[in-house]
Amino acid sequence: MNIHEYQAKQLFKLYGIPVPEGSPAETAGHAEQVARELGGNAWVVKAQVHAGGRGKAGGVHIAKSLDEITEFSRKLLGTRLVTQQTGAEGLPVETLYVEKAGQIDREFYLSALVDRGSERVIFIASAAGGMDIEEVAEKTPDRIISFQVDPAAGLQPYQCRKVAFAFGLESTQFKSLEKIMAGIYKLLLEKDAGQIEINPLVTTNSGELVAVDAKINFDDNAVAVHPDITAMRDPGQEDEKEHKAQQFGLNYITLDGSIGCMVNGAGLAMATMDLVKLKGGSPANFLDVGGGTNTEKVAEAFKLILADPNVKAVLVNIFGGIVKCDVIAEGILAAVKEVSVKVPVVVRLEGTNAEAGRTLLRESGLNLVAADDLAKAAEQVVALAEGV
Ligand code: ADP
Ligand code: MG
Repeated sequence: MNIHEYQAKQLFKLYGIPVPEGSPAETAGHAEQVARELGGNAWVVKAQVHAGGRGKAGGVHIAKSLDEITEFSRKLLGTRLVTQQTGAEGLPVETLYVEKAGQIDREFYLSALVDRGSERVIFIASAAGGMDIEEVAEKTPDRIISFQVDPAAGLQPYQCRKVAFAFGLESTQFKSLEKIMAGIYKLLLEKDAGQIEINPLVTTNSGELVAVDAKINFDDNAVAVHPDITAMRDPGQEDEKEHKAQQFGLNYITLDGSIGCMVNGAGLAMATMDLVKLKGGSPANFLDVGGGTNTEKVAEAFKLILADPNVKAVLVNIFGGIVKCDVIAEGILAAVKEVSVKVPVVVRLEGTNAEAGRTLLRESGLNLVAADDLAKAAEQVVALAEGV
């Protein structure tokens, strides 16, 4: 799960990481009021979307007057911001963040993330931070350093010194960097973040270190145990279908193909998608209704698939182990009562209560294609999606 920059900066503050003073605003009037309360004569207005690359996309504006803030806010609020990281549709700008503009001397890159390969937290740092970090990574990767943190020993002062050296900091700035890195590490562990990124971390003209941008991503499986993080969720920034699926405890990912797949178990879901591909089709989604599912969940899952205009045919592939096939059938029928099925549906039910499930579907009068062989089911659904 991602959160907004202004929320990440609230967490930074709690963990002793210095950030510019600022507040979120949802109207142009409020944005101006925030600036007035902050005082000073230069502010930065920043679109709050769950994506980076805002600066280059016109989502960050340095304003020298209150009028400029109002003008920029009016122009941006209610639009969709398209950045290098959003895809062509962009993300809705419903909130702005207004903060004091700092006098930036140099911009660095600093992040920490959970590296699954080494099963360690790693830090990544570069003196060449700022808006072109992707280019730095591609063209001059030697300008980026990284190191692992031993979980038993924790972050070590020598590791912070390594970063300070790479940044070319003065010795007087070392303590401040060490505090920032310790804050990042603690925040990452305590809140189960997957990645925390500061780009840029800057030195100001007076030599202070400040996090001017803040990005945090959390492990979806851990968010539930952190009510403060859960409260930061912004569904407006998330894929609507994926968000709905999450509410029902379904594992759902939108893909760009034409065959909707409803499957139980992540392994079977992967195998089903592979098979669809093998037969020349392309899945519209990954959906695992889970092991111990119920009628309501299945109904919601089926409705989600049918609501996708890209879906030209549906493949239901259930192996009843813990889940019973008649429960799946009832779920499908419950969904069909609420929404009409305009696309062909191929159903393969196998395992516990498979026969009862098939009977339910057969007697429902629905136009379903029953299949008892998975390879054949995949072939059929691909053909039906292509209108063959
Ligand atoms: P993004 O990474 O999405 O482009 P940033 O928050 O990094 O957005 O902002 C882009 C650039 O704008 C930064 O690299 C920095 O140069 C400038 N900037 C952002 N916030 C401030 C600020 N408070 N004071 C001065 N400059 C800022
Ligand atoms: Mg940035």
